[in-house]
Amino acid sequence: MNEHDSEKVAGVLLARGYRQVEFAEQANVVLYNTCSIREKAAQKVFSRLGEYRLTQRDGQTIGVLGCVAQQEGQKIFTRAPWVSLVCGSASYRKLPELLAQLEAGNRRVTGLDTDTDETFETEVTRRDNPWRAYLTIIEGCDKACSYCVVPFTRGPERSRTSASILEEVRQLAGVGYTEVQLLGQTVNSYADPSAKKMRFSELLVAVAELPGIRRVRFTTSHPRDFGKDIVEAIEAVPAICEHVHLPVQSGSTKVLRGMARTYTREEYLEKIAMLRASKREISLTTDLIVGFPGETEKDFEETLSLLDVAQYDGAFCFKYSPRPNTPSLKMEDAIPEEEKSRRLAMLLEKQREIQRARNEKLVGRELEVMVEGKSKKEFQWSGHTSGNKVMNFTSRAQESLGDYVQVKVVAATPNSLVGEKRQWRVTSGE
Ligand code: SAM
Ligand code: SF4
Repeated sequence: MNEHDSEKVAGVLLARGYRQVEFAEQANVVLYNTCSIREKAAQKVFSRLGEYRLTQRDGQTIGVLGCVAQQEGQKIFTRAPWVSLVCGSASYRKLPELLAQLEAGNRRVTGLDTDTDETFETEVTRRDNPWRAYLTIIEGCDKACSYCVVPFTRGPERSRTSASILEEVRQLAGVGYTEVQLLGQTVNSYADPSAKKMRFSELLVAVAELPGIRRVRFTTSHPRDFGKDIVEAIEAVPAICEHVHLPVQSGSTKVLRGMARTYTREEYLEKIAMLRASKREISLTTDLIVGFPGETEKDFEETLSLLDVAQYDGAFCFKYSPRPNTPSLKMEDAIPEEEKSRRLAMLLEKQREIQRARNEKLVGRELEVMVEGKSKKEFQWSGHTSGNKVMNFTSRAQESLGDYVQVKVVAATPNSLVGEKRQWRVTSGE
């Protein structure tokens, strides 16, 4: 989502006559997009800002965008006085105006409002990938998980109208995009603000049925709002990719309650059972946090046992990181850092073995891959399957990036598949 925000900001500025340069030192304006989801990411910001200071030229504007900007606000000017612009994602619409104020002689400008009901739509987005386009359909988050900064840094949920989303996808298809990824912190909480009141599952189908669109992905889904209608949409329309990212965070109902996730272990597992019962083989990935305050050894074991049941195809695992303003900051029974590290290592190890076994089951199958990269090694290519698995494959043909090809899986590792593209031979005779 952050990458896509940067694409949108770049688009807005290009439309205003700005030009992009290769290195920060060459720029008149440096806008640094930041993340504050965990402390480590936020800490990096000030060391990077220090580096920018060393190379700052006379008259060069340095601005901080994103969640650290929103979280720290004016304090950034005190800690890094060489910064002259601070703007959170809910105020990006105001960026050209803020830059104009700086050009007019203002020394410091901020865009820190989050009480907006607007989404950040732009006429021009400078997209990095020529085949896969990201598209934010819902911004902000209303879920208030007790450990998370997002509701504070990205503001309340605001959805784009279905008509404007469909129009943008139509335009994207018109210029050659075949894959779109619909984005939102809780993408399936999408609520069409127009009179059409299109449900998320209906929007998925409508996007996937637009001419030229071969793949539709969506991330991240919140378990509470994940219903059968989404599985039915995936079953009905092949262009909707067979992959769901459904963060569970913990396998213990007690910890989930502390996290304010609004579902129990059992309710979550019912959603998994529904996905696994689908006619299509849907790959399932998740996010997990270890060491949430009060997480006992027994709670942690419940997370481990959930992995056995859920059989995820991938998992992003994190150590709990206390974040400013969040309710969990005040919770007792913090877990020591070494214990968090121990639990994280155990979780990663277990998940790795599950992935290895799941990927090995795909050996012998033929899967469709979008060709996304060419390796330095001869005849080696890479791409993703509909289930979002990385496939490294051999092909003696001169593949074109962005094409879709059928590849046979010949081997598997925990994080990727190894494949061979079938060579078509024209034979004469019977
Ligand atoms: N909105 C999505 C959701 O609800 O799953 C993802 C939000 S967040 C950008 C991505 C992941 O970061 C979360 O799913 C969670 O696992 C992790 N995360 C968020 N806050 C965290 C914290 N304070 N400490 C550790 N991990 C955290
Ligand atoms: Fe954060 Fe929870 Fe919202 Fe996800 S759903 S962004 S974890 S508050």
